[in-house]
Amino acid sequence: MAQAVRHDAMRAGNLAVVLGELDRRGPLTRAALAENTGLTKTTVSKLVADLIDAGMAVESGAVRDGERGRPGVAVHLSGHRVAALGLEINVDYLAARVVDLTRTVRLVRTQPVDNRSSSPDEVIGRLRELADGMLGEAAGLGLSVAGAALALPGPVDRSTGTVHSAPNLGWRQVAVADMLDLPLPVVVDNEANLAALGELWFGSGTSLGDFLHVSGEIGIGAGLVVGGELFRGAHGFAGELGHVVVSPDGPECRCGGRGCLERYAGQDALLPPGAEIGDLLVRLSSGDRPAKEACERAGAALGIALTTAVNLLDPDTIVLGGIFAPLFPWVSGPAEEALRARLGHMRAHVPAVVVSRVGADAATLGAAGQVVQRVIADPMSFLPTPQR
Ligand SMILES: [Zn+2]
Repeated sequence: MAQAVRHDAMRAGNLAVVLGELDRRGPLTRAALAENTGLTKTTVSKLVADLIDAGMAVESGAVRDGERGRPGVAVHLSGHRVAALGLEINVDYLAARVVDLTRTVRLVRTQPVDNRSSSPDEVIGRLRELADGMLGEAAGLGLSVAGAALALPGPVDRSTGTVHSAPNLGWRQVAVADMLDLPLPVVVDNEANLAALGELWFGSGTSLGDFLHVSGEIGIGAGLVVGGELFRGAHGFAGELGHVVVSPDGPECRCGGRGCLERYAGQDALLPPGAEIGDLLVRLSSGDRPAKEACERAGAALGIALTTAVNLLDPDTIVLGGIFAPLFPWVSGPAEEALRARLGHMRAHVPAVVVSRVGADAATLGAAGQVVQRVIADPMSFLPTPQR
């Protein structure tokens, strides 16, 4: 019995090593996999067969085999069977993405809806319908969804799937994961954290160095990626950039404080009630002066809050995402100016401010990406029929 357990644990570890290698460096021949992992060719062949059976890997054409230069059959990750569901509840929309194991986006849905006027029950019910529809469509494509992750605009207890407080939704202590009750494992996480991971896995990635990703929505959150990993803080609540104080005597904020960044640069500060970001973009491109000035004020406030963040965290790069991605041409200049004016004396390099490559999709991509990471780290748990 003890031996069987040890064998299973070893097989689980080896499957993860081989799948991880295919993810980072595939396509690879079995010989190259053996060389890179230190496993014997026999073991690698058996593990690869299991991964192919499970639809996680597939053989491709012949490639040159490492140093020896012999042609061999290569193996690479397969996106044909295993997939992940990324979900998002935000203040004025619901969104979902299905991503396969190769991180290719297979299904996309966004539903504009004002979630402030509904109870958590109603909002979560609408999301369940959206998610059920996506799971049905995924099954139609032959995809088996391994798990889901849900992005929420507020601090979340990931161990229980409870959102502590989402001030812009008016939610306190909502047990979202339990209420959602999907027929697969669901992880709940903060929207800004998942958006930063979305940028890491689907956007500019590691080329940014250590970066702070800013998600502009009705609220403003940030996620810090250090050494390719998300920094969460002691309680998982790091990155609440929207509640960094820009002006201590400023207007009251829904968080209970005053003069927070959100009041100057959040979507509600930029748009009149009921207006959409598209309306603002139309006004901006036609040279509308009040629209341009609103963006300049938002950019300057963002620069002031980011100065505090840079002094504390020293990132290489600041990535502007969410609504700040389409508004980048109008907000980035004033933000950079504020940063340079305040940081220029202290440091030789002020961090580069760049536009997100995934924009508004970042949080659902990060959510789905987190499930993909879990499968790659522990493929044995996701094998359809574990042979014991
Ligand atoms: Zn606040």
